[in-house]
Amino acid sequence: MSRTSTPRDPYEVLGVQRDASEQQIKKAFRALARELHPDVNAHDPQAEEKFKEAAEAYEILSDSERRATYDRYGHEGLRSGGYAPNFDGFGSIGDLFDAFFGGSSPFGGRGGPASGDDAAVAVELDLAEAATGARVEVSYEAIERCEHCHGNGAEPGTPIETCERCGGSGQLQALTRTPFGQMVRRVVCDTCHGDGRVAAQPCRECRGRGRKAARRTLEVDIPAGIADGQRIRLSGRGHAGEAGAPEGDLYVLVRVREDERFVREGADLITALDVPAPLAALGGTLQTPTLDGAVLVEVPAGTQPGEIVTLRGRGMPSLQGARNGDLRVVMNVVVPRRLSDEQRELIARLQETITEENLRSDESMFAKLRRTLRGHAA
Ligand SMILES: [Zn+2]
Ligand SMILES: [Zn+2]
Repeated sequence: MSRTSTPRDPYEVLGVQRDASEQQIKKAFRALARELHPDVNAHDPQAEEKFKEAAEAYEILSDSERRATYDRYGHEGLRSGGYAPNFDGFGSIGDLFDAFFGGSSPFGGRGGPASGDDAAVAVELDLAEAATGARVEVSYEAIERCEHCHGNGAEPGTPIETCERCGGSGQLQALTRTPFGQMVRRVVCDTCHGDGRVAAQPCRECRGRGRKAARRTLEVDIPAGIADGQRIRLSGRGHAGEAGAPEGDLYVLVRVREDERFVREGADLITALDVPAPLAALGGTLQTPTLDGAVLVEVPAGTQPGEIVTLRGRGMPSLQGARNGDLRVVMNVVVPRRLSDEQRELIARLQETITEENLRSDESMFAKLRRTLRGHAA
């Protein structure tokens, strides 16, 4: 290698300012790479050397830690930190390009067969189904590889030939007039779409596209504890990619229908239980709904409006496998309305007996307000 022992300043090599952004550095390197690409520079013996220098500069400046080290201590600092850029090990400049651009050209052209797009589908569950988990069938439109031609677009038994339009390169050169004169730009061939090869006789099932839309039905397991708006990803169940490329993913959006009996708060459920005022005063038992059906709940004597009785573990299961949430039963103490004469008389007699002692509580004004407001919110 004929490189001088002192490497050049990477900012100078890429032609960027010292405060250049990540984006500017990337852009400068790509522009330089475009200039030095062997296809463009077949006659310049120095192109390879120059490209290696640009690649080394990019390696340093595209890594924030390395860049900071270089900024403070220069090349010496990078070397003493154990970083020694060296691309001499690459067999050819073509390999180097592959290393940097993943086998695709830096011209923004074809980068190998494109993988399939993601597909999406929505499912709706009841709260009870969300609690137990469910297996649901989803149906969606997906682009699939054509079975008839196995995705190559040719009618079986007919040849696939080199594209005449681009001569098999998959690219066309387009001349564009600019203020600086004519520029050659490469574009993807519109006949073979970059493949370089076309079917002599296009497949009759997919008309040569190699893929076609089909309705697909799938059973999806929805885990217990799923919440409204969560998505499940099924990898490889999306649209087919180009021949040789992987399929996209399927996203299942889960909608959980509202249940008029419960409000969900994380893994907890909240329900309001109507408690007749006399029962709240005397204490007793009432039935409250749960996801597993009605259960008896103890209403303590002297229960006040908005007080909460917690049924442990009667909420939703946790997706993470932690313990179940709770069911919080809010005591909605109902004062009787539309009294009969007899009831009116009974309550009047009760009212005459009420003393300070009956109304006394240990709660502060603040605690009382908080309880009643919470009762309202639920
Ligand atoms: Zn086909
Ligand atoms: Zn072509």
